[in-house]
Amino acid sequence: MLTVQSIPAFNDNYIWLIHNSHNHCVVVDPGDATPVLKVLEEQSLTLDAILITHHHHDHIGGISELKRHYPNLNVVGPASEPIPGISQSVEDGDQVELFGERFMVLSVPGHTLGHVAYVGDGKLFCGDTLFSVGCGRLFEGTPAQMFQSLKKLASLPDETEIYCAHEYTSSNLAFALVAEQDNPHLQRYREDVSRMRAQGISTIPSTLRQEKLVNPFLRCEQPSIKKSVADKAFDDSDLETFAALRRWKDNF
Ligand code: ZN
Ligand code: FE
Repeated sequence: MLTVQSIPAFNDNYIWLIHNSHNHCVVVDPGDATPVLKVLEEQSLTLDAILITHHHHDHIGGISELKRHYPNLNVVGPASEPIPGISQSVEDGDQVELFGERFMVLSVPGHTLGHVAYVGDGKLFCGDTLFSVGCGRLFEGTPAQMFQSLKKLASLPDETEIYCAHEYTSSNLAFALVAEQDNPHLQRYREDVSRMRAQGISTIPSTLRQEKLVNPFLRCEQPSIKKSVADKAFDDSDLETFAALRRWKDNF
C-alpha cells in the first residue's frame, strides 16, 4: 500500500510524493527541489526515484538539485522529450516498479508530444494532460492527439485517483459552468470546491468517476456540450466538439 502526499510548489503546482511504509519515497514532477528537500528532511524520508511526465520547466526544474543530494536517484521520464538528467527512458506500455507496485507508462500526447502518464495501485499521475474539470493546453499536439489521450485515460477504472500537476479546479469550474450550465453535478462540485479552497484544502486527487460527471472535456458526446459549442464547431462530431471546447477555453 502506497501513500501519496502533495507538496505544493510555485503558484499552483503539486509535486506528488509517493511513499511506502519504510521511509522510502518517489516524487513526481519536481519542478522545484526546495520544498521537496524540506519535506524529505522533516519526515526523514529517502528519495529513491523521480517520475517525470513531460519536459516543461515547472515539472523538471528540481531534478539536478535533487540528484546532487541523492546521487543514485533513478530519474524516469519520457524517451522522446529532451530532459536533462533522465536515467531511465520510458515509452507507452513500459512498466516501472515502485515499492512492489507496478506502474504502467501511458503515452498521452497533446499538451506536449512526448507526454507520458503513470498508472498503478489505483493511482494516475497524469501531469498536465487531465485536470479536475479541465485538460492541458495544446502546446505541441493536435486536438485529435489530446482527444485520444483523454479517451485512453477515461478507459481506466472509475475508482482511479487522478493526481494531476496543478490546482486549476476553481478556474476550470468557471469555464465548465458556462459550457454546461444545467449539469447538476457541476453545481454541486462548485459548492464543494469553493468550501475546500476557502479552507486551503487541495481538490486533488479527483477520481475518474467524478471527472466523467463534471469534466466537459470528457463529456464531448453529451448533447448539452455539443449544443453550447454549436456556433464554434465545424461539425458535431465528438472530436470537433472537443477541439471547439479547447479553443473556447483558450480564450475564456
Ligand atoms: Zn506543462
Ligand atoms: Fe505544468
